Amino acid sequence: MTNGRTRREFLGSMAALTIFPLEQEKPDLLLHNGNIWTVNAAEPRAQAVAIARGRFLAVGSDKDVLNLAVPGMQKIDLGGKTVLPGFIDAHSHPADAGRLHLRMVDCDLRSIPAIQAALRDRAAKTPAGEWVLGFKYDDTKTEEGRALLIADLDSAVPDHPVHIQHRGGHTAYANSLAFRKAGIDEKTPDPPGGQISHDPATGRLSGRVAESANDYFDKVIPLNFTRDDCREGVKLISKMLARTGITSATEAQGTPEDLRAYQDAHEAGELLYRAYCFINYHHLDAMIEAGVRTGLGNEWVRVGAVKLVCDGSISERTARLSTPYEGRPNDYGILVMTEDEMYSVGRKAHLAGWQIGTHSNGDVGIDQTLRVYERLQRESPRRDPRFRLEHCTVVNDALVARIKALGAIPTPFSTYVYYHGEKMRYYGAERLNHMFALRSFIDAGIRPTQASDYPPGPFEPMMALQSEVTRTDTKGNVWGPKQRITIEEAIRVGTLNGAYASYEENIKGSIEAGKLADLVVLGRDPLRENPSTLITIPVERTMMGGRWSFEA
Ligand SMILES: [Zn+2]
Repeated sequence: MTNGRTRREFLGSMAALTIFPLEQEKPDLLLHNGNIWTVNAAEPRAQAVAIARGRFLAVGSDKDVLNLAVPGMQKIDLGGKTVLPGFIDAHSHPADAGRLHLRMVDCDLRSIPAIQAALRDRAAKTPAGEWVLGFKYDDTKTEEGRALLIADLDSAVPDHPVHIQHRGGHTAYANSLAFRKAGIDEKTPDPPGGQISHDPATGRLSGRVAESANDYFDKVIPLNFTRDDCREGVKLISKMLARTGITSATEAQGTPEDLRAYQDAHEAGELLYRAYCFINYHHLDAMIEAGVRTGLGNEWVRVGAVKLVCDGSISERTARLSTPYEGRPNDYGILVMTEDEMYSVGRKAHLAGWQIGTHSNGDVGIDQTLRVYERLQRESPRRDPRFRLEHCTVVNDALVARIKALGAIPTPFSTYVYYHGEKMRYYGAERLNHMFALRSFIDAGIRPTQASDYPPGPFEPMMALQSEVTRTDTKGNVWGPKQRITIEEAIRVGTLNGAYASYEENIKGSIEAGKLADLVVLGRDPLRENPSTLITIPVERTMMGGRWSFEA
C-alpha cells in the first residue's frame, strides 16, 4: 500500500487513466474539460469522466477519456468548471420536511407581527375550530428578542387551535384553545422527560412545551397524510435538495410510511436523492419480525439505522450538559431516554444486525450513549457495527478517544455555527472549542459527516463548507476557532465520509471508476475561493446516476 501510494504521488496529482474492468461496456456519456476534484486520495484530480449505465466507467485526463468516445454518445464540454462528488447529507429529515412544507405555515420570519400575520392568513382559509399549524419558528431570530407568548397567539388567532413547532423540533408553542384541546391546564404536572412552561410571575401557561410534553398535542392534532401526500412531500423536497448539489440524504427519524413514500416517489421518477431511511425505534419490533434490517434496499432507497434519542436539542438549549448553560446556573438540559431503556432497545437491534444511530448532543448524553454501545459490543461483539452518534455536539478528549476506540461515527451539525450564531453564547466561548468538533474528530482518525438536520439547520452544502472552514456566523462572530478544518477536509466530510456512515463507501462518495455517477458542477472552485464567500458559489448542475437532477 505504502509503496503504491508513494509511486502515485511521485507521478503527480493528475490521475493516470483508470477504467472499471467491464471490457464490453461502452460509455453513454462523457464529460470533459473539467476541473474535477475526485475525493479519491489515490488520484485527487481529473479532467474528464466517462459514464456508462449510471456509473463512472473511466476517470482521467481529457486525452485518455476522449479516446473512449464512441459514435452516437453524448459529449459535454464542462468549460473548465469545477466538479465535486455529489454531497451527502448524513442526518436530515427530508421526507418529514417535505410533508410539512405541503401543509404548514413556514414561520421562518423575522418578527412576531410577521408570524401573527402569516397565521391569521392561514386561519382565514381554515374552517373555525380546525387546527392552524406552523413550523420553522425560531425564538432567537425575531427582532423582539423574546419568545412567542400564549397571548401573541390568542390575539392573532382566537377561534382556531394554533400549534407551532420550533425549528429545532423539540419545543412547540400553542394558543389557549390548543392547550384546552390537548387537556393541559396550569396545574398539569411536567411529564417525565418533558416540560410545560409557566409565566414565572403569574404561574399561568406561557404557551411553550418541551420534549415529551409534545405528546399531549401529537395525540389531538389530526395531522393525517395520505399515501399520495407522502409521495408529494418527497417530490417537493427532492427539488429543493437537488438545486443545492445534494445527491444523498439520510432520513434520520424515519418510519415505515417514509420507506413507502420513498419507494413510491422513486417508482414515479420523482426521487432526486438517494435515501438512507432510519427507522424510529418504536417500529423496531415490527421491522425485525418482517425480517428487515439495516442495508436492505438498493442504491436509491435503503433501510438505515434504528433511531434512538438520548437527550435534548442544541438550538433549543435542552441538550444534557455536565456544566450548566451560560447564565442559567440550574439548567443542565434534559435526558429523554434512560440508559436502561436505551440498552434494552439497543440490544435487540444490535443482535438483529441493525446499525444504531442515537441522538446525543450534550457531553452527558454522549457519555451515556457510548456506555450503551460499549456494553453491547463487549457482550455481543459484531465485526463492523458502525455505531452512530447523531449530532455528537459537545465533546471532550476522553469522549473522542472512546468514539475512536469504538469506531463510531459522529454526525455533527454542519451549518449551525454560521446560521445559528446567536444561540452560541448560551454555550460560551470555551465550550464552543469542543462543539461540532470536526478538527478533534479528524485528528483522532474518526470519520465525521456533513449533516444539516433540516428543518432545524439549513441544508445548503456550500453553507456547511463555509461554516466548518471559518467557524464564523453571519454577523462575523467566530465560535470555536480551534475546530476549524481545511476546505479539502470539509469536502471529504461532505462526500466520502457520508457514504461510509451508511456502509456505501464502495459505491459512492468519490469520483472513481465503478462508483455511481453522482456529481455537482459549481460556478467557481471552492479550493480557490475566499473561505468567507464559499456560500456564494453557485451550484450550476447536479447529476445523479448519470442524469441531471438539477440544471440552473
Ligand atoms: Zn435530527
